[in-house]
Amino acid sequence: MFDSLSDRLGTVFDRLRGRGALSEQDVRDAMREVRVALLEADVALPVARDFIARVTERAIGQEVLKSVTPGQMVVKIVNDELVAMLGGEEAVGKGPMGEGEALNLSVAPPAVVMMVGLQGSGKTTSTAKIAKLLKDKQGKKPLMASLDVNRPAAQEQLAVLGEQAGVATLPIVAGQQPVDIARRALGAAKLQNFDVLLLDTAGRLHVDEALMAEMKAVASVSTPAEVLLVVDSLTGQDAVNVAQSFSDEVPLTGVVLTRMDGDARGGAALSMRAVTGKPIKFAGTGEKLDAIERFHPARVADRILGMGDVVSLVERAAETIKAEDAEDLAKRMMAGKFDLNDLRKQLKQMQNMGGLGMLAGMMPGMKKAKAAMASSGMDDKVLVHMDAIIGSMTEKERARPELLNAKRKKRVAAGSGTSVQEVNKILKMHQEMGRAMKQIKKMGGLKGLGALLG
Ligand code: GDP
Repeated sequence: MFDSLSDRLGTVFDRLRGRGALSEQDVRDAMREVRVALLEADVALPVARDFIARVTERAIGQEVLKSVTPGQMVVKIVNDELVAMLGGEEAVGKGPMGEGEALNLSVAPPAVVMMVGLQGSGKTTSTAKIAKLLKDKQGKKPLMASLDVNRPAAQEQLAVLGEQAGVATLPIVAGQQPVDIARRALGAAKLQNFDVLLLDTAGRLHVDEALMAEMKAVASVSTPAEVLLVVDSLTGQDAVNVAQSFSDEVPLTGVVLTRMDGDARGGAALSMRAVTGKPIKFAGTGEKLDAIERFHPARVADRILGMGDVVSLVERAAETIKAEDAEDLAKRMMAGKFDLNDLRKQLKQMQNMGGLGMLAGMMPGMKKAKAAMASSGMDDKVLVHMDAIIGSMTEKERARPELLNAKRKKRVAAGSGTSVQEVNKILKMHQEMGRAMKQIKKMGGLKGLGALLG
C-alpha cells in the first residue's frame, strides 16, 4: 500500500530539500508533480485539487520561502495536510475509555453497530473482527446478527466466524426478513444483556435503490450508534464512488477500509474522508480475525512520506514479544548463556512481527535498507531457512554450537536443505551476538545497554 506514491513523493521532496533557497516557481513545479503522483495513486480529482491548493497557499507564504530550510518546511506542510486529508487526529476516537476507543458506544445498551457495504467488500469478516476487538480489548459482551438474506449461506458464514472469534451470534430463523431479524436481534440482546449488537447487513453487487431502502429501514428500527461503511481499498476509484453513494443515503459514522494488506495504490484511503466527511476508523489487514488495526492518520502520513512508522512498530513489538520472555532472554544473555535455541526464538519473533519487509517498511530511513536487503537476497525466506537450520541440529548442538565440526555441519545442511555456507552464516551471527553481549556486560549490564542504545 502507498509504495509507489511514497516513492514518487520521495523523489520530489529530495529535490526540494537539496536546494538552499526556493522560489515560488520551485514550489509550484513541485506541487504539479505531487498532484500527478496523487492522481496516479487513484486519489479522487477534486480531493487532489483541494489538497494542492491548500499546500501551495501555505507553502508560498513568506515565512516558508525565507526560512532557513524551505524544503523541510514544505515537506512539513505536506505532512500536516496529508494528516488532515486522512481525517486528522479526531479519527483516533477519544471515548470514555481513552484513546483506544474507536467507536462511540456510550448509549443505553445494547449499542447497535450497523455494518453496510457491497458484497465482497469484507463486511462479514470485518463484523467479526470488530466484535472480537470489542470483546478482547474492551471487555464488551457483543452479539452479532446477519441480516443478509440475499447471499446464500451468509448467515451461516457469520455463525462460523462467531464461533472462531468466541462471539455469540443470533440463532438463524429461516425465511425471516432483514427488518424482522434486526428487531429479533435487539430483543435478544436486551433480554440476554449483550451490550453491543453488530448488524451485518445485506450486500449487493452494486449500489441500488432496494439496497438503500433496506439500509434505511434497518436503521430506523435499530437506531444505530455507529453505521460503518466497509469498502475494499483495492477497488480504488470505485471504492470512492461507492462511499459517495452510501454517504448520500445512510447516516454513516465511519469507514472500515479492508485489504490494506494488498497492493492498493492508496487513493481510496486518501479520498475517503473528503468524500464521506467521516473518518476511517479501522483498516483490515488480512483474512485472519485479528488482522484489523485502528486507522491513525498521522502514522499513515508518516508512512507515505517515508518517515517510517515507529509507533506502530513499537506497538507491534510489544504485542508480539511477551514481557517475561524478553526478561528471561536478557538474563540469559547477561549470563553468557545465549545459545542457538535463544537465537531461534528471536528469529521466530521477527517472523511473527511480520518479517523483515514489514519491519523495514515501518522504520524511518529503512526504505533504502529494505531495497538493499532484497537485492542481497536477505528476505523473509532467510528467516525460514535459519529456522530450518537450527531445527536440524541436535539439542546438544544447539546448546553448545562449538560441537559443530565440518561433518556435523554437512549433516545439518543436508537436513535443512541448505548449504554449509548458510550454516556457517548462522553460527557467525550467533557468535557476533555473543560478542555484543560481552561488550554490554563490560559496560555495566543493562545500564550499559541503555547507553549503547543512546
Ligand atoms: P462480504 O461479502 O462483504 O461480507 O465479504 P466477506 O467478509 O465474506 O469477505 C470476502 C473475502 O475477503 C473473504 O475471503 C475474506 O477473508 C477477505 N477479506 C476480508 N477482509 C480482508 C482484508 O482486510 N484483507 C484481506 N487480504 N482479505 C480480506
